[in-house]
Order: sequence, then structure tokens, then C-alpha cells
Amino acid sequence: MKKNVSSKRLAVSGDGPAIGSRSAPTHRSPLTANGGADLFAQMHSMGHEQVLLSHDPSCGYFGIIAIHDTTLGPALGGTRFWQYDSTEDAITDALRLARGMTYKSAVAGINLGGGKSVIIGDNRRTDREALFRAHGRFIDTLGGRYITAEDIGTSPADMEYIKLETDHVAGLLGLSGDPSPVTAYGVYVGMKATARVRWGNDRLAGKTVAVQGAGKVAYYLMQHLHRDGARIVVTDIDKEKVGRAEQEFEADAVAPDAIYDQDADVFSPNALGAVINDDTLPRLKVEIVAGGANNQLAEDRHGDELEQRGILYAPDYVINGGGVINVYGELHQWPVERAQKKAGEIYETLLRIFEIAKQERIPSYRAADRLAEQRIAAVAGLDRMWVAGQRGRGVAGHQGSGALI
Ligand code: NAD
Repeated sequence: MKKNVSSKRLAVSGDGPAIGSRSAPTHRSPLTANGGADLFAQMHSMGHEQVLLSHDPSCGYFGIIAIHDTTLGPALGGTRFWQYDSTEDAITDALRLARGMTYKSAVAGINLGGGKSVIIGDNRRTDREALFRAHGRFIDTLGGRYITAEDIGTSPADMEYIKLETDHVAGLLGLSGDPSPVTAYGVYVGMKATARVRWGNDRLAGKTVAVQGAGKVAYYLMQHLHRDGARIVVTDIDKEKVGRAEQEFEADAVAPDAIYDQDADVFSPNALGAVINDDTLPRLKVEIVAGGANNQLAEDRHGDELEQRGILYAPDYVINGGGVINVYGELHQWPVERAQKKAGEIYETLLRIFEIAKQERIPSYRAADRLAEQRIAAVAGLDRMWVAGQRGRGVAGHQGSGALI
């Protein structure tokens, strides 16, 4: 794959091979160069529909949009602003994150597909208006097939710049607001569902929960746990946040690295990714891992190992689905209570996932994928029958093409 791509709006689109499809195309992709990964092969093996690149030299904008699967609805996923080492790394990240969004929205039971965009560059850059407006213009070319929101390196203020150029952006100032309370509520009910499967009932009173991170999600989560009578052990690199948890939730503070060694019932990662890894796994004494952080497993095999060690894992993208539910609520002008109620369904969703895992003798993270794929396949099946105004054959809510034949 070429590095430093500067082609204008180079679009690569396909028919979106079935999720899970694994056979590679037989031709060589025109984007393959210098032994880099074949982009079409990557798209094909991961099931992506479309990848687009855009460059605006006037403001040094290098943007990528990856659309994974739009069976359930328009692709939604945040904009990540990051200084990648190469264009290839940026595309790979966009592809991986877009695919993750398909699964997250599918199991959350909302009508959104999966997409993601990245802007390559230093996210501490202060001259942001032209950059994010360029990104907004790029997003607008897709006519709503992709909707963006905040992600690492971007802020609500950046979303306002995007909004100047396109309507296809969520997470705006003064609208749905901070998603953390809804996310935390989903994590809380998800932890209860996991407790029910592990211990026969979902009471958290008297249980010890080791909470990694005391940021936004963790704060609201600890509120629920404290109210329920759980004992909290907490850590954060920010001493002020730890102090607040000690004061408000009678939490016991430990050093950041000591959180893995606690005599606790639940480990709740709410800070970083890849915290379930070769180093931490042998140290965990808990029976449940349930937290809001994204990408908790360093690699899939760590999910298998949790299983082998008898630790029940609430798959991260299921239990933290409250965030995307909150965005969906914003797009549909839901009151916050409705988003919270929808996040409450994470309880039942996790019970179903654990049931699939048991029946099919697979780890819970694989069972989550299975449930997402089942929902997408079921909805895709509906398209077989033609109905007036059907999505894809006359856009729902619009007047149709008006073509006379
Ligand atoms: P946040 O920035 O408010 O909190 C993260 C906290 O982790 C910070 O207080 C930070 O100091 C702390 N931290 C960083 N490194 C640490 C370390 N080594 N040890 C302990 N603590 C450390 O972020 P947040 O919004 O609460 O999100 C937390 C996690 O949940 C992230 O992984 C995020 O991607 C994920 N998530 C958040 C939402 C949401 O609605 N906010 C939704 C879905 C997923």
C-alpha cells in the first residue's frame, strides 16, 4: 500500500461480502505497493463495503472514511485524529474500528451500521476550523451513508466545525451531551447480568469491585455500585479523581499497577484498552471482568484464557454499548430516559450471549459476535421481499427517484 497517499477522493467500494467471509479476491489490488497489505483483500476478509480517502492541501487535511456494513442502517462511528506512522496504519485502524462499530450497534439493538473515520495528523493542533470543515465536506459527499461523532483526539467543538458542512454528525454541544451516565448505567446492569450467570443472582451488595480508572464512566458506575452496597477498590493516575471516589463512595485506593492483584470479585476496566493480557491474566483473582473500556482483550486468545481460568467476561463492546445508544438517541431526539432504558436492555443481551456461549461451547466474546451476526443476517433476509419505499430500492422517507419506465 502506498504511503503518503495524496490522491483526491480515491474511493474503493465493493458489494460488502457477508460478515465473516474469508476468501481473498484473486486479482491484485491497485493499492498494493512495496509488499504492503492488499486493500481489497483486507476489505474482503473483514467484510467492508467502502473505503474513501480525501486530501485537502489548503489545510493539510488527510482523511479516511471506512464503511463496514450498512445492513442495519447508516454507518456510524467517531472521527479519530491521530498521528499514524503511515497511511497504511491509518487505513488498517479505520477498517478495524469501523468493523467494531458494526458489531457494537448490532448487539445494542439499534438501527445503525458500522463506520469510522480518521484524520491523520497531530491532534494537539490548534488551527482546527479548516481541518474539521474539510472533514465535514468529505463526510457530506456520502449523503448520510456515514455519520460521525467524537473519538480520540476530537472534541465537541470539532464536531461543531463539522456541522457547518454536514448534517451527518452527532455529539454536538447542547444536544445529547455527555454519554458517560448512560454508558455507566449499561455497564452497571451488564455487571449485574454477569453476576447472575456467575453466582446465581445479580446482587452486588457485599461484592468487591476493583475499578480501574475513576474518570467519567467509572464515576457514574461507582455511584450505582456504592448505592447497591458493593465495596469499591479504585485506581487512577489522576489523584484528584481517586480522592473524589474515596470521599463519595468510601472506595479504597490502590496504585495503578496494583489493581490487577486485588482480592476482588469483579475487575472493572474503565480506563485503557488491552488490559487483559499475558502479564495481567495470571494476576487476576476475580470471577468476573465487566467494565466500560474499549478493546479490553489485548488479543482474542486472552478472551479464551479468561474462559479457561473460569473468569466470566462481559464482552466490552456489548457492556459499553450505552455510548452508541446515547448517540442514536440524539439522532432520533430521544429523551435521555429513553436512551437509559435502551441501555438497560444490555442486561438481557448479555444473558443471551452467555446462553449462546454455553450452548455452543464458545467463549463469551465469540458468542457476542455470533449474536451480532445473527441480527444482521436476519435483517438482511428481510430485503428479499420488495415493499414500497424499501431502503436501497427507494430511500425510506424520501419520494423515490421519480423515474418513469
Ligand atoms: P475518561 O478520560 O473520563 O476516564 C479515563 C480515566 O482513566 C482517566 O481518569 C484517566 O486518568 C484514567 N487512566 C489513564 N491511564 C490510567 C492507568 N494507567 N491506570 C488507571 N487509570 C488510568 O474516559 P471515559 O469517558 O470515562 O472512558 C473510559 C473508557 O470507557 C475508555 O476506554 C472509553 O473508550 C470507554 N468508553 C467510554 C464511553 C463514554 O460514554 N464515555 C462509551 C464507550 C466506551
